[in-house]
Order: sequence, then structure tokens, then C-alpha cells
Amino acid sequence: MNLGTLVYEGKGKKIYKDPADQRQVWMEFKDDLTAFNAQKKGSFSGKGRLNGEMATLIFRYLKRAGIPSHFVSWEPDRFMRVEEVKIIPLEVVVRNYLAGSLAKKLGKEEGEKLPRPIVEFYYKDDGLNDPFVSDDQIMALNLAPGTDLMALKTAALEINVHLREIFRPMGLRLVDFKLEFGRDVDGRLLLADEITPDGCRLWDEKTLEKFDKDRFRRDLGGIDHAYKEVHKRLVSFMRERGIEI
Ligand code: UDP
Repeated sequence: MNLGTLVYEGKGKKIYKDPADQRQVWMEFKDDLTAFNAQKKGSFSGKGRLNGEMATLIFRYLKRAGIPSHFVSWEPDRFMRVEEVKIIPLEVVVRNYLAGSLAKKLGKEEGEKLPRPIVEFYYKDDGLNDPFVSDDQIMALNLAPGTDLMALKTAALEINVHLREIFRPMGLRLVDFKLEFGRDVDGRLLLADEITPDGCRLWDEKTLEKFDKDRFRRDLGGIDHAYKEVHKRLVSFMRERGIEI
């Protein structure tokens, strides 16, 4: 496995590129955890492997369901081979229940079921703290050149249906989550980044206990236990459907 050279280091991942390979890159899942735009930092041993494996299983499931992503293959125990994409500078958030920044903005308690899923866009810019942007702002100011917002929304809502299909039998409520999309060299729109408890809110369906990064953001403790539990349930859900690491 030739990693090539480190070309990017983000909060949770590193990207390596072999200059000879124009189409694919390696993504390393780090053990680090960050919150509030990296003002809060932590880590736990094995987190990179857990997240990488969870993302792998989900990408494989989505692929089978006809959702194209940048995922190519998994190399234990922390490397993912992905199609190189140009990331669209929008974080696409889908909400099924009221929580987080939307609950805060509306001065409401978390947990209310929304009448229908909501899709929101945030402009990816760490210096600006990824601000919320409206469809009109994105289009009028050309914040995501060449991006069809309807296509993004449709893809995000379709992914939401599949993710709910995954988490529901695992006894987990998919409260909300964040997606990123990119375009490959041929201009194809691909789901990119990762889907893991770092970017999803997952609550136990019965007890409403949190099994996601809010345990770290809110100092609830037991983040390693929570991620291991989601991983365990996901591995068994996928195994029953013939999808393995
Ligand atoms: N989220 C994320 N990265 C971000 C912002 C949000 O992965 O930079 C995820 C977050 O984990 C949650 C969903 O997007 O599952 C909605 O987050 P929200 O807007 O409520 O913001 P937060 O309360 O996390 O600041």
C-alpha cells in the first residue's frame, strides 16, 4: 500500500495522494475528536478504526441501494481508498427530529419529531464557523458554483431514507446528520466525506440515551463505549444482510 504524500490534514482525517494517481486518494481516519470548530479537542484509542469501519459498512449498503459515493475500498485498520473529488463547499444537514442548533435557534426543547425531514445548507468555511446559508444566498452569490441545489436535496433525502432503514432496526433514532458531496474528474456528483457518529445524532429509541459526538461536545462521558456499541450493532445489522468489513 503506497500512501503517497500527505496533502491535507483535517480535524478527523488525513488525505494522502500519490502524484501518479490522478483519480483516487487515501483517507486516514484519526483517533482525534474535535468540537466547536476544533476549540475543543480529545481523542480515544481505536476511534479511527471504529469510524472507518462504520463508514465503510454504510457506504457499501448505500452503494447496493444505488447511492454513488467516493468509497472504493477499506484497508485495515484506518485507511479508506476513495475517488478523488472536488468537495462542494456546503455541509448538507438533514433533520428528522428537532435538536442542536435548530432547537437552540427556536428556543425549543430537543426531541420533537419534525412534520417532515428538513434539509439545510451551511457554508463550509472554518474561519466563518460554517454559517447557515439559504438557497437564495447560495445561488445569488454563487457560493457553490455549478451545483444543482435540488439535486443535492433530493440525494440527501434519499440517503436519509436509507440511513433510517439502517439505524431503526438497530434501536437507534436518527435525529439529524451532516453530509458532504463532491464531484469526480468526470463531473459526477458523489457522496463524500464519511457517515459516522461524529456527524450524526443517534439516540436510543427507548431511553433516548445519546450514542454520538454530543457525548463529547456536552461532556457526558462514555464516548468510546457509545461508538463501540453503534459499531457492534452496525456490524451485526450489515452481516445479516451479507455486508462485511
Ligand atoms: N454537524 C457536523 N459538523 C458540523 C456541524 C454539524 O457533523 O460542522 C452535524 C451534527 O453532528 C448534527 C447535525 O450535523 O448531527 C446538525 O448539527 P447542528 O446544526 O444541530 O449543529 P450543532 O448543534 O452540532 O452545532
